Amino acid sequence: MNENNAPLVILISGTPGVGKTTIGTLLKKKGYSVIALNDFILFNGLYYGYDHFRGSVILDVEFLKKELRTQIINYSNLLFIEGHTTEYVPKQLVSLIFVIKCNPRILRKRLIARGYLKRKIEENIQAEIMEECLLRHRENFPEKIIIELDSSDIKPEEIVNEIMKSIDNIS
Ligand code: ADP
Repeated sequence: MNENNAPLVILISGTPGVGKTTIGTLLKKKGYSVIALNDFILFNGLYYGYDHFRGSVILDVEFLKKELRTQIINYSNLLFIEGHTTEYVPKQLVSLIFVIKCNPRILRKRLIARGYLKRKIEENIQAEIMEECLLRHRENFPEKIIIELDSSDIKPEEIVNEIMKSIDNIS
């Protein structure tokens, strides 16, 4: 917890399929608080509607930021927020960001296994190649708090260990 009694907020982001949910589940099993941002958005109705072409919700960004500010103070110590759009978490609240990456060939296999439509798979592969998630976070947060981790060849448990080691270094 920091001096304002707010929790230390750690973001875990990346293109769909890189392993964010898997990492979040492992962190929960270890007893940590984890917000899955997609669930948070749906549960709290923080969207205008659904974009059928893109297959995703149309976010109400201002409402999302407001709701995060309100709800984050209910947590103590360490809070992980995992999701594709974590760049909308208010900057002042965030201590560290992990952008998970994945080799596009491996990512494609994971997205095919998930049953995504071809168009959606290619859109996500393109986003991964262009490092869109990383760039969005770089636009919103200082470079020094962003850490890239590659999930292509290591187990989710090892990624969690890397995350915890980095957090130990800042707290
Ligand atoms: P995201 O939440 O980023 O969309 P998921 O956690 O749902 O990604 O993972 C997508 C798929 O990839 C799942 O089938 C999961 O089991 C698998 N996966 C996740 N991380 C790894 C990893 N480090 N190595 C191999 N497979 C992984």
